[in-house]
Amino acid sequence: MAIILRWDMSSRKAGQVVKKRVFIGLLLASLFLLTAVVFFAWWFFTQQTLYLNRLFLVILMALAFILFVLLAIGLLALIWSLWSLKEVPPLENMMRGVTKLLFPVALWLGKWLGVAEEKIKNSYIQVSNQLVKTQIKTKAYQRIMILAPHCLQWVQCPHKITIRVENCKRCGQCVIMDLLALAEETGTCLKVVTGGTLARKMIKEYRPDAVVAIACERDLVSGMQDVDGLPIIGIVNERPEGPCANTKVDLRKVREAIGELQT
Ligand code: SF4
Repeated sequence: MAIILRWDMSSRKAGQVVKKRVFIGLLLASLFLLTAVVFFAWWFFTQQTLYLNRLFLVILMALAFILFVLLAIGLLALIWSLWSLKEVPPLENMMRGVTKLLFPVALWLGKWLGVAEEKIKNSYIQVSNQLVKTQIKTKAYQRIMILAPHCLQWVQCPHKITIRVENCKRCGQCVIMDLLALAEETGTCLKVVTGGTLARKMIKEYRPDAVVAIACERDLVSGMQDVDGLPIIGIVNERPEGPCANTKVDLRKVREAIGELQT
């Protein structure tokens, strides 16, 4: 309870706190669910009388216990890092491992509890962003890439901007014009991509130190989980006309993310 209260106070945006809590809460619940499954298996096996069964059970329990301890340490470190806004370098991989490993369980559990998938993924993005921001606090990156989805482009625009974003004629019909101006102003590289495959290709070619990725929840989560070792700040796009067409992005958030990475 004390942790939650302090977390509330240390956070700048109350809305984001709720979103983070959803994911963290589901991670904790997933961990307890896994523990319950393991204990049930233990109970089940103890009903057998064969020596081999018992030996197998002991080995299984030892492995499960080690896994549980590692997950618990990783999860506690994650919560502490989010709460205190401090990085925990020795446990960084463990924290990442916990979120990756328990994410599918949390997703399944959330769906089962009636929490919308989009909400859980949004919460995951908030948690991941907070971790990245905590970890990069003392670093400044030079090569920053803005990865934007092509659904930001006005659907009737005749210009092909996924190969060369400079093909944009800056007519002002969509946010691409503003993103180009922002990229020029901040000295970052803007790429417009059609999906994960092209995004990975762009990252491989440009080799950025850090990425500001704009996409829907689903694409952001898979992209963030795909790329290891590269700081990614994810920004969820707005979809006033539904998914994949004439989407928008809050430029303040993009600017803020670039600022976090550059200073
Ligand atoms: S701003 Fe650029 S990308 Fe958007 S509609 Fe105009 S020319 Fe096309």
